[in-house]
Amino acid sequence: MKVIVVSGGVISGLGKGITTSSLGRLLKARGIPVTIVKIDPYLNVDAGTMNPYQHGEVFVLDDGTEVDLDLGNYERFLGQSLMGTHNLTTGKIYRSVIEKERRGDYLGNTVQIIPHVTGEIKRSIREVAQGAGAEVVLVEVGGTVGDIESMPFLEALRELSYELGEGHMAFVHTTLVPVVGPVGEAKTKPTQHSVRELRAIGIRPNMIMARSPVPLTPDIKAKISLFCDVPPDAVVSVPDEPVIYEVPLVLEAQGVGSLLTRVLGLTDRPPDYTAWKEFLTNYRRGEGSVEVAVVGKYTELRDAYLSHSEAFHHCQGHLGTEIRLSWYDSEDIPRNPSLVARIQRSDAILVPGGFGARGVEGKVRAIEIARTERIPYLGVCYGFQMAAVEYARHVLGLPKANTTEVDPGTPDPVVCLLEEQKGVNELGGTMRLGAQRVLLTAGSKVAEVYGKTEIWERHRHRFEINPKYIDRFRAAGLNATGFSVDSRVEAFEASDHPFFVGVQYHPEFLSRPEAPHPLYLALVRAAIARKEVAAPVAPAPALA
Ligand code: GLN
Repeated sequence: MKVIVVSGGVISGLGKGITTSSLGRLLKARGIPVTIVKIDPYLNVDAGTMNPYQHGEVFVLDDGTEVDLDLGNYERFLGQSLMGTHNLTTGKIYRSVIEKERRGDYLGNTVQIIPHVTGEIKRSIREVAQGAGAEVVLVEVGGTVGDIESMPFLEALRELSYELGEGHMAFVHTTLVPVVGPVGEAKTKPTQHSVRELRAIGIRPNMIMARSPVPLTPDIKAKISLFCDVPPDAVVSVPDEPVIYEVPLVLEAQGVGSLLTRVLGLTDRPPDYTAWKEFLTNYRRGEGSVEVAVVGKYTELRDAYLSHSEAFHHCQGHLGTEIRLSWYDSEDIPRNPSLVARIQRSDAILVPGGFGARGVEGKVRAIEIARTERIPYLGVCYGFQMAAVEYARHVLGLPKANTTEVDPGTPDPVVCLLEEQKGVNELGGTMRLGAQRVLLTAGSKVAEVYGKTEIWERHRHRFEINPKYIDRFRAAGLNATGFSVDSRVEAFEASDHPFFVGVQYHPEFLSRPEAPHPLYLALVRAAIARKEVAAPVAPAPALA
């Protein structure tokens, strides 16, 4: 087992997740089987109970584990699906240690952070490596070196490197090299301090990834090399890239792939980036552009809808059409007519998932615009449920129709609690979660889009379309065309609209750069068709 640890210094939010994902891609491009584990040192057992405003979107894996959004980046960069065991949290580790203590597994010993908690961390990492059949496991340690909560994890990784022996583990430290002052001087001092912090706990980095707004000059690299005791070729410049999928190539160009294989004693082969480069070439082609309005509640923090933005990036890398995303806070829509006018001018509308009453009327209004102006629409989870509410109110003529999540006393509960959710009191990990089989109606739009009638998609919800209304919706032109094996509505589409599709599941979690999700592609294609994009325009600026 070979392990690459990616730690972070100076500040959080340096894009460690992208760096880690890119390192994985470098090895994968060489035919080396890899996998990635994320350590989140917080006490939450999983990310499921966290507000998207604090940590960004909650990503869902096939097995239904709700995880940090970095796992989404790993899946997209590696093109492989991960499991819940790939996200370690302090909550999970302590829960397991305490369960063992209660069972008496520690045979009367005093249970301590070292060796029991660190032992549990090492055991978990080894278990993932074995289960995934990977030659190299990348371990990203969330937070910043020096944080109290990440100490047991770093200590465990130090112990692991001792146990595995020389040449089995590489430590990659990501730091910030700020550019300050009137002449734009790159400063290495924060990096020096954070490496010193790492060395104080017994870890000597093999490589430094310096995040900086601009590429590092050779003298700055030499300075970091001298002060931090790493070879000059192991000081890597990771400047801001407008498209995150450029990062593996930026690292490759600095010899990072070969250096890592050397440190780990692996055979270095010429990397294959054919499909990856094709994606990037298409991405930059900029043949015309379309504007997609995204109407949600957490629009101030783009990370809250990360997988949706990425899914559109994937479409751009496939179709070569620039996709501009315009973000609308649904709460502002009912009180601001100019927003309505802008949404009416967009080429497609997406309403993503969400929870609770705040902002729902704005979502309903945006969906009404999509339906009546015949603008291509994709509703995801809450955006699907809200489309049912909109259709019920304005087409079925049920003005008080609602989801019972918002109005428990509504006379027309077109969206209601899943039967098995009744009596569920705990919030953590109790929704209908993860990959479920969905059967699509032959001849429907969704079946045509997927090119098949049986799919697996990831879920995260407590409410569903009330089966009592399915026939009335159908009679009014909104056809349920996707069902779970136990007959819940998973997808519907409007018959008299170019593209008005809602899905109960989360297609955004399965979109990959080399395999964009068919529903997003279909939405964008419908937008292009609507706009009738003609001649190619100048190269496209990157998405925000
Ligand atoms: N709040 C809705 C439900 O629980 C939708 C969930 C979501 O959009 N992820 O069913």
